Amino acid sequence: QDTVRLIKSTQVITTPVSLVKELLENSIDAGATSVTIRLEKYGFGLVEVRDNGSGIEEEDVKFIAKPHFTSKIESFADLASLNTYGFRGEALASLCAVAEVSITTKTKDGVMGHTYTFDHAGTVTSKKPAAAPNGTSIMARNLFKNLPVRKQYYSSSKRQKEELKKVEDLVLAFTLAAPVVHLTLSHDKLTVIQKSSVKNIQEALMSTFPAVYKDLVLRKKNIEDIHIETYLPCLGPNENPSLSRTTPDRLFVLVNQRPVVHKSIEKVVKAFYSQKVQGSHGRYPLGVVTLSVPPASVDVNLEPNKNKILLRNENQVLETVQEILSELYGPLEQ
Ligand code: ADP
Ligand code: MG
Repeated sequence: QDTVRLIKSTQVITTPVSLVKELLENSIDAGATSVTIRLEKYGFGLVEVRDNGSGIEEEDVKFIAKPHFTSKIESFADLASLNTYGFRGEALASLCAVAEVSITTKTKDGVMGHTYTFDHAGTVTSKKPAAAPNGTSIMARNLFKNLPVRKQYYSSSKRQKEELKKVEDLVLAFTLAAPVVHLTLSHDKLTVIQKSSVKNIQEALMSTFPAVYKDLVLRKKNIEDIHIETYLPCLGPNENPSLSRTTPDRLFVLVNQRPVVHKSIEKVVKAFYSQKVQGSHGRYPLGVVTLSVPPASVDVNLEPNKNKILLRNENQVLETVQEILSELYGPLEQ
C-alpha cells in the first residue's frame, strides 16, 4: 500500500490555466450546469468565469477570498468522503493576491445580485447592487501585474499562445470530466470551445471529438472497489485509423471526475501505442482512462493545483490498464 504524503502548498495561481482551472472547478462545485469562460489577451488581460450555480450568500462574501476559507469541508476527516474539486480555500485568496478581482453573484433566494471588488488581501473594498441572473461571475483583471518577473516571462507571444493552448486542453478535459456542464471558452471574442450539456462521457466524446469518436472502444474492469473504464482506439490488423486523421494526440486521465496528470498510466498506454500503433513517431491517438475510486483511496493533496495524485492500489490499477491494453492490441513484446 502506498503511503500518503502531504506536500505543503504554495502558490496556487501560477498561470492563466491554473486560474481558469480553479474558477471552473468552483463553478462546478457550486452545481453549475453552464459555465462560460472568457479570456482577453491570453488571460493576462482578463479571465472571466460565469456560472449558473448556487451563487454566494451575502454574509459569506467577506470570507470567501480570505486564506483557508472554504465552505466545502469542516474537518480533515471530511477529505475521506470528498466529492468536490475544492476543499482548501486557497484559490480565491491566491487570486486576489495576483490580480484585480471582482465578483458578481446572486443566490436563487436573494432579492437581487451584487458586485463586489476585492483588494490584494482578499478584503471586500466595494459592494454595489447589480442586475444579475442566479449564479456567480468572477472577473480577474491584469493577472501578475504586481509580479514583474512573471509578467515579463509571459510577455513573449510564443509563451502566451502556449498558455492559451493549455487552457484549451484543460477545458477539453473538463468537457469529458463534467459532461452535463455546458461549457464555452472564448478568447478575444473568438469562440474556441463550445460544448452543450450531455448525459455522459460517451456523448461528451462524440460531441468534443466527432472525427475520432467512432474509433474508440469502451472497456470496463473492476478491481475491488475501483472501477476502470478506458476509451482507446481500436486497431484491426494493419490498421491505424486514429492517426491517419488530424487527431488531438491526447491521453486524458480522469480520477473521480478530476482531470489529472498520471505519468505511470500514460507510460503504460504509450508503451503499447509505440509498439502497436505504426508510425506513431511520438504522436499518439486520443485515449481516455477513467478511474472511479472511493474518495478515501485517493490523495489529491500532493501539489497545490491537485494535478498529480496518489492512488491506493496503484500497482493493481496499472496492471489492470495493462490487461485492457493487451486485450485490445495483443501483449507487449519485451
Ligand atoms: P475552495 O474551492 O477550496 O473551497 P476557493 O478559494 O476556491 O476555495 O473558494 C472559496 C469559497 O468561495 C468556496 O468554498 C465557496 O464557498 C465560494 N465560491 C467560490 N467560487 C464560487 C462560485 N462560483 N459559486 C459559489 N460559491 C463560490
Ligand atoms: Mg476552489
